[in-house]
Amino acid sequence: MKFYSLSSSSQGNCYYLESGDSALLIDAGIAAKKIEATLAQSAANPAKLKGILLTHEHIDHVRSVGTLAKKYHLPIFATEGTWQGLEQMNCSVPFQLRRSLDELDNLTLGRFNISWQATVHDCLNPIFFSINDGEKKFGLITDTGELNSQMTEMLYDSDILIAEANHDVNMLKSGSYPFRVKQRILSSHGHLSNEDCAQGLLAMIGSHTKHIMLAHLSQHNNTPLLAYKTVKQTLEQNCTYEDYTLWVARAEARSSILEV
Ligand SMILES: [Zn+2]
Ligand SMILES: [Zn+2]
Repeated sequence: MKFYSLSSSSQGNCYYLESGDSALLIDAGIAAKKIEATLAQSAANPAKLKGILLTHEHIDHVRSVGTLAKKYHLPIFATEGTWQGLEQMNCSVPFQLRRSLDELDNLTLGRFNISWQATVHDCLNPIFFSINDGEKKFGLITDTGELNSQMTEMLYDSDILIAEANHDVNMLKSGSYPFRVKQRILSSHGHLSNEDCAQGLLAMIGSHTKHIMLAHLSQHNNTPLLAYKTVKQTLEQNCTYEDYTLWVARAEARSSILEV
């Protein structure tokens, strides 16, 4: 199983997962041309793509989904709530390529067995994903104000874990964002702080966990180094497992390629 982030921040998110002859994109929140160029540079074959999974309808997750769906004839998987949200944004995904996750209990795409569950975020029906290829387990959770035990149980002991570390609470509180926006980000329907992320990871890391990547960092209220240091310190002090590498996704460039 192979994973990388093409871009990850409050400005745009897109992630690539591959196993054997199967590949997926999770979210498509950056320009289609940039996604195509990054896949080409990374020797990814678009013919392997089985579809795009969407976490929710915020623009930083769906910007080019219509373009990619049409160009590569890719089915797009999202909840009914996300489809409603996309509809209000004049969604350009052709009807024949729209798939509703509400009609399914789980989903098999190529080698991937895909499960999902609700996150807590200020949109219609946001979700996160746990994906298994029969040998390895992958989990990705971003855009949630809360990381509860149901979520951590589903993601527990993933070989690769991608988790949101959106902001440093002090940077956010003392920063220039309007009060209302600060309240939104800090609320239970907003985003996870570095410390929230670290606490959640303590409940998710298991003996199989090899790679953890911090994702969806705010470019105003966080820095990669601060996120890394905060999470690393909490994990070093409290986590019994040590056999993993901690990474930080880059805001506007491809991350390292993680393989298990
Ligand atoms: Zn987002
Ligand atoms: Zn969002």
